[in-house]
Amino acid sequence: MNRIHNFSAGPGVLPVPVLESTKNVVQEYLGLGMSIMEMSHRSKPIVALFDEVKENVLNLMNLSKDDYSVLFLGGGASMQFAMVALNFVKTTADYVNTGTWASNAIKEAKKVGNVNVAGSSEDKNFNYIPKNLKLSDNADFLHFTSNNTIFGTRFDSLPETNAPLVCDMSSDMFSRELDYSKFSLIYAGAQKNIGPSGATMVVIKNDFLNNANTDLLTMLSYQTHVKAESMFNTPPVFPVYVINETLKWIVADGGLKAIEDRNIYKAGLIYNLIDEMPNYYKGAVTHKEDRSLMNITFNLPSEELEAKFIKEATAKNLDGLKGHRSVGGVRASIYNACPVESCQALADFMKEFYTNNK
Ligand SMILES: *Cc1c(COP(=O)(O)O)cnc(C)c1O
Repeated sequence: MNRIHNFSAGPGVLPVPVLESTKNVVQEYLGLGMSIMEMSHRSKPIVALFDEVKENVLNLMNLSKDDYSVLFLGGGASMQFAMVALNFVKTTADYVNTGTWASNAIKEAKKVGNVNVAGSSEDKNFNYIPKNLKLSDNADFLHFTSNNTIFGTRFDSLPETNAPLVCDMSSDMFSRELDYSKFSLIYAGAQKNIGPSGATMVVIKNDFLNNANTDLLTMLSYQTHVKAESMFNTPPVFPVYVINETLKWIVADGGLKAIEDRNIYKAGLIYNLIDEMPNYYKGAVTHKEDRSLMNITFNLPSEELEAKFIKEATAKNLDGLKGHRSVGGVRASIYNACPVESCQALADFMKEFYTNNK
């Protein structure tokens, strides 16, 4: 396999062993004479696959199936902005605004009911994580985005609130150890850190689910999907297979702690350079503790140099480094499956580029 260094923000890089096993099941699944893509979602092997992936998800998060349910839905994380609001906004919901995706979630919730923006970093183009939240009394829930894919910030620790915690974890799902029992609902579009596009994972606390609004359109109600064990309609079977392979890869790799340690090391290779030459590689995030381990954002002294940097990097097989079209600059997305060698190759390139263009 000819692999380039893939720093794409999403869909993002997948582990090679996952690609290998996926290649096989595209042709034939379990020696059953058909591809996994040709198989009924109600067939025994696919029901068994769903049981297995749900168990793997909960095991990695240290959660029990008595307390939490796992769903795989279509519509991306963007659909969850709407579903969270429809199912759980009753009086007022607290939201933290840390960037584009959080803002989109807030926009949807405002169409449903009262939203209190408990904290925002919009004043500084989202280059930090707001602390000291102004929570409302008895909020329905607090929604936050654990990792901000576009701006390169992340919550180092969880926001403190008595309200149920709801989190968009699309771009750092399974990137670190966390006390997952603190959450009432987590959702993640698969295509950033756990699989291909087409499936969104939702992990929801049963107690929280029991309080969901009723009288919703059938497909927009979490209760519909939990009751039907994620098979109310045809679920994204093939993406779910890939997600399961990714989970098995995480376990074989040593679990979340090992993944987290490697993510810290990988990000360090690049942040160290940013810290060594802060006037050349200008980190976009102002507080070090807010720095994302998944999406590293920085600027060069001029837009011309940024364009040159990205062009020369691409020529050296360092791909996908252009910042999001809304912010510009450089962004290196170094998800779980991004190898240490790719981060090292980028760090080496950054040194060389500085020497040639300072
Ligand atoms: C990419 C992304 C989204 C949007 O995901 P879709 O699956 O395209 O709807 C939402 N939130 C975060 C944090 C993201 O990174």
